[in-house]
Amino acid sequence: MKAGVTSCRARWLTFAACLLSAGVLAGGRGDPEAYPRARAAATSQRLAAAIERNVSPLTPTVPALVGARGAIEFQRLLGGIFLAMDSYASAENHLRRAYAIATAIGDAEDAAAAAIDRGEIALLTGQYDRAERLSNDLAQLATGANLPWAQAKAEEYLGVVARRRGRLDDAQAHAQRALALQRALGQEAGTATALSNLGTLARDRGDYATALDLFRQALAIRERGDDLLELTLRNLALIYRDLGDDASARDYFGRALEVARRHGDSANYAATLGTWAGYLVDSGEFAPALAAAEESLAVSSAIGDRPSIGFDLLNSGRALLGLGRSTEADARLHDALAIGRELNQHEIIAHSQVSLAEAALARGDAVRANRLLQAAFADPQTARYKPLMVEVNELREKIATAIGQPVQALQYAHAAAALREELLGTRARRRLAALESQYARTAADQQLALATKENQLQAARLTQQHLQRNYVIVAACGLGAILLLLAWRFAGVRRLNRALAARNAEVETQRAALSNANDRLQQQADELFQAAISDPLTGVSNRGHLMRQLDARIADCARNGGELAALLIDFDHFKRINDAHGHLYGDRVLVAGVQTLRQWLEPGDLLGRYGGEEFIAALSGRDAANAIQVADRLRTRVAEAMTGFLPEANGAVTVSIGIAILSHLPGPARLEMLIEAADKAVYAAKAAGRNRVVVHAA
Ligand code: GH3
Ligand code: MG
Ligand code: MG
Repeated sequence: MKAGVTSCRARWLTFAACLLSAGVLAGGRGDPEAYPRARAAATSQRLAAAIERNVSPLTPTVPALVGARGAIEFQRLLGGIFLAMDSYASAENHLRRAYAIATAIGDAEDAAAAAIDRGEIALLTGQYDRAERLSNDLAQLATGANLPWAQAKAEEYLGVVARRRGRLDDAQAHAQRALALQRALGQEAGTATALSNLGTLARDRGDYATALDLFRQALAIRERGDDLLELTLRNLALIYRDLGDDASARDYFGRALEVARRHGDSANYAATLGTWAGYLVDSGEFAPALAAAEESLAVSSAIGDRPSIGFDLLNSGRALLGLGRSTEADARLHDALAIGRELNQHEIIAHSQVSLAEAALARGDAVRANRLLQAAFADPQTARYKPLMVEVNELREKIATAIGQPVQALQYAHAAAALREELLGTRARRRLAALESQYARTAADQQLALATKENQLQAARLTQQHLQRNYVIVAACGLGAILLLLAWRFAGVRRLNRALAARNAEVETQRAALSNANDRLQQQADELFQAAISDPLTGVSNRGHLMRQLDARIADCARNGGELAALLIDFDHFKRINDAHGHLYGDRVLVAGVQTLRQWLEPGDLLGRYGGEEFIAALSGRDAANAIQVADRLRTRVAEAMTGFLPEANGAVTVSIGIAILSHLPGPARLEMLIEAADKAVYAAKAAGRNRVVVHAA
């Protein structure tokens, strides 16, 4: 989001750095407690104020001396210096004047350039209403004067404001337009910023595969020398944290911090350090987290970066909470919430509220924690922030447990688990694996292209040498040698052809190897998927997969009408079988029993392991009478097939089956109700003597 002033900043960074180091030296280095970076920023502010005092008296005389265009240049120059010194109020002062003069004389380009810098300042200081107004003016100016680079910047800023206000769709549309414009202009830095902003939006929604892809594209551009590299490295660190890959997250944080320390930009330094503090809190390293958050707070306070101050207060509050200093934590978190509300910045507000509820719970005040959370997440829009909602639901579970509502606690635990499954479950992992293999494939394709190019070059070189030799021989030997020459040429061409054929064969081998590797990758992905949904002992669907399939069938019945019968099949006295013959023998009994069940079910029926020695079969489109027939068939076939399986004389293996019929259940039937009904029916079958089928009475 800072790319628009990059060139302007770069020009003045060196100048500011000189002034800064002079200031730091003059100020001396006494207090070891102080953060050098925060002190440097504070010194820079004082220096800026001094320059401002000395320059102000000159300002009115400038237009008379150098004319309107000179005055614009002068004001933009001062704006650039102050911006590079992170002195935002002074910078805005001069840029506003430049903007006013440029607008007055109809100089659209200078007006747009000044508006871009002003927009960035408004974003940095958290003045989002102003940023929005400036961006709308900028967009209008850009359309009128046909300045696509200004239009791109306006779209970028509008997207950032929309995201911070929690309007994700709006933000997405603006960021996408910014990306299209920057790409059309061939602007690398702007393209990287737009990719990065789109990546952040994908992260907000929990779409980690897309976010990772976008951040990687941004990184590829910024590694070529853009000065926002630290922010992209930080974003990648966050994604790897979300994916649970701590080693990569720490690696990227390390690189981000190293780049941020080298750069002169205090705002980016604070942002990187502040995010690192948040990560340390998440990892339970509260003392170093507090130290990092305090330093970041000192720097962002020195330069007046309001959004960053909000995040720093939030992170230091969370760290204090982790250290058990809950009173101090509470004060920090309230301050963070106040800043979030003042800026109307969704992310700060939401996270402060979650942490305040955590603090209340830590003090034992679960009722207050509950109230805070209910008020904060009543808006259904918040459900779109999926990673945030995992945290919220986990906290709700703890609160419900604390206030003695186990049923609700279970519901929240389910909701959190389902979301986590959605974010990091089999499907998301498969998409990530596909992404990784796509990167590997691109790299291999590039190597192949390189080999082909090398080949062509070699062929051209050979031909050239060949021709040169021909001239020499022709001149030396004359006409009589022509025959010899022809023979030699013929041999040469054949040699060349052989060399080329060998090269081509090599390329072909590489292409085949690549295709094999791709097939293997696909096969591995399929096997992984199969393993993730199957029960390793019996080969039928595992519990997770069974539940998803059942859920889908119930939803299908709700949409299209139709009937569904669930059969809960429980092996009788299975513990006795284990006790008498050992667990391994018990396993063989289960495998054989399930094989029989499978054999006597119809192709469209579901079968899965619910747990232990309990299995569920689901039959679509069968009424109660029909389901009883099938269940009875299964029961008798198992008993028959397993006759003589146990060595003892009268050792029978039997099953009891409970049936639940979807349409018999009251209200909009859900998965839990269906299984509970089947469970009750099995219980009745057991009570009535086992080896029988019972239908749950509505
Ligand atoms: P009931 O007729 O009332 O169902 O009696 P039961 O013994 O079958 O029921 P209970 O729930 O008391 O015991 C189930 C047993 O099934 C206990 C457990 O060790 C055994 N079991 C569960 N999973 C497996 C497995 O994968 N292999 C083996 N061998 N035994 C298992
Ligand atoms: Mg059982
Ligand atoms: Mg049993």
